[in-house]
Amino acid sequence: MAGDSLSASDATVLIECPDSELGRMLAIARTLRDRAKGRIVTYSRKIFLPITNLCRDRCTYCTFRRDPGESGAWTMLPQEIRQWSARGRELGCKEALMCLGDKPEVAFKEYRATLADLGVRSTMEYVGRACEISLKEGLLPHTNAGLMTRAEMIALRPLNASLGLMLESVSPRLRMRGEVHQWAPDKDPAKRLAMIDQAGQLAIPFTTGILLGIGETPAERAQSLIAIRDLHERQGHIQEVIIQNFRAKPEIAMAAAPEPEALEMARAIATARIVLGAGMNVQAPPNLSPDQIELFLDSGLNDWGGISPLTPDFVNPEAPWPHLERLAERCAAAGFELRERLAIYPEYINDSWLDPGIRPLVDRLWSNIAGDNS
Ligand code: SF4
Repeated sequence: MAGDSLSASDATVLIECPDSELGRMLAIARTLRDRAKGRIVTYSRKIFLPITNLCRDRCTYCTFRRDPGESGAWTMLPQEIRQWSARGRELGCKEALMCLGDKPEVAFKEYRATLADLGVRSTMEYVGRACEISLKEGLLPHTNAGLMTRAEMIALRPLNASLGLMLESVSPRLRMRGEVHQWAPDKDPAKRLAMIDQAGQLAIPFTTGILLGIGETPAERAQSLIAIRDLHERQGHIQEVIIQNFRAKPEIAMAAAPEPEALEMARAIATARIVLGAGMNVQAPPNLSPDQIELFLDSGLNDWGGISPLTPDFVNPEAPWPHLERLAERCAAAGFELRERLAIYPEYINDSWLDPGIRPLVDRLWSNIAGDNS
C-alpha cells in the first residue's frame, strides 16, 4: 500500500495466499486500483485482423495456427483488410488489431510465394502495408505479430498506436521436451523479454501479459509479473498487462488440461495490481471468463481489453465478445463506469511516445472519445 517494490518471493507469497487471506489481498488490490483509476473501467472498440494464421511455431494450446493448404489456412488480401477496416469504422471501431502467426516465411515455401505475389519480402513488410490500409480507413493499428527485430519495430512504430507481445511466462522450463512450447522457438522467454525491452528503448507504448494454465507454477506466474515490472521500471513503456486464462478446446493436444479456476485468476489479477502498482492498467479478457466480471473487478483490474462488434476473437473463436451494453450494465451494478479508450492509453498520448505521423489521427479519435465520455 505504501508503494514499496516487491521481490519475486513477496509476489509468490501473494499469488499463493490461502483462501483465509484472499479477501484481504483482493481488498488491497482494489484499493490501489481505486487510488489511481477511480471507478472507471475501460475497453477498446476494435476489429481483429488475422493477417495470416500460418505460423512456424506449434504451441500445444493453439487453435489459431494452420499449415499452408490445411483447411482454414488464410492470409488476408489487401482488399479484405480494407473492407473489414471500413466496416469497423462504420461501426465505431477505432483499433485495428493485427494479430498473426510468427515468421511463417521461415517455415513454408508456399507462403514465401504468397508474399512474393503480394509484392513484399516478409510478413512484417506486409503487416506494414496492412497498417497503412487500416490507417487510411481511420483506424489505429495495434500489431501483435510475435517476435520482432529492432528494425521491424522501428518500421512499424510510425504506423501503430502501440505494439504488443504476450510474455506468457518467464519460465524456460515450458520450452522443454513434453511442455507447451517445445515446438515454439519464438516462445523463448529470454528473446521475448529482450524484444519488450527494445520496444521500451524505441519509446513504443507496449502491451504484454501472462498466460495462466499452460504448465507454469504459481511461483512462475509471480516471477513473470516481476519480470514485467522490472522491464517497465527501466523504460516506462508497459501501458497494460493482460492476465489471460488458457481455455481448453477439443481439437488441441491440451484438450483435457484443466483451465485456471476463477480464484486463481483473481489471485493473479490482484498480485499483478499489487506488484505493478496503482497506476498500471491491468486487464483480463471478459469473453474468456464471462461469469467472473464482478470477481475480476473486485480483484483490482481496470480494463477489459479490445471488444469487437464486427469480428470474432480468432484465437478463441468459441468465446463470443460480451455485448457492450450488457457489460456496461454489469460494471455499473458493481459500481463502475465502462468507458471507451484507444489502442494507446491516454497517459501515452504525447510526443515522447507517438510518431508525429500518427499523432493527428490519435488526437482526433481521442477527442471524439473524450467528448462521448463527458
Ligand atoms: S506462436 Fe501464436 S499462432 Fe503460433 S502456434 Fe503459438 S500461439 Fe499459435
